[in-house]
Amino acid sequence: MPTCEHCGYTWTWKESLKKLFTFRPEMVCPSCEEKQYQTQRSKMKSSFLMIVVLLPLLMTTFFDISVALLLGLSPILLVFSMSISPFLMEVSSKEEFIDFFRK
Ligand SMILES: [Zn+2]
Repeated sequence: MPTCEHCGYTWTWKESLKKLFTFRPEMVCPSCEEKQYQTQRSKMKSSFLMIVVLLPLLMTTFFDISVALLLGLSPILLVFSMSISPFLMEVSSKEEFIDFFRK
């Protein structure tokens, strides 16, 4: 769960989830109203989750999976990844950008 770097407030699951539906880079702390940003590591984890969700779609290209099964599976995966993303979310006071080439 994300913890505010400014006041140490730990976001609730619901507050973190709400952030997922806004596409703004900053997350305003519910406690001190200080702007917080998702960390690079946290963004990477979210991207990874997205890949997990998209994986069944890719699998149809290689395997013979019925569309019905895929349509049934996708919402489950989507809900699953969304409900666990708040646990992977980390925030910091500084804005970071994804840089895949930096070691
Ligand atoms: Zn705060």
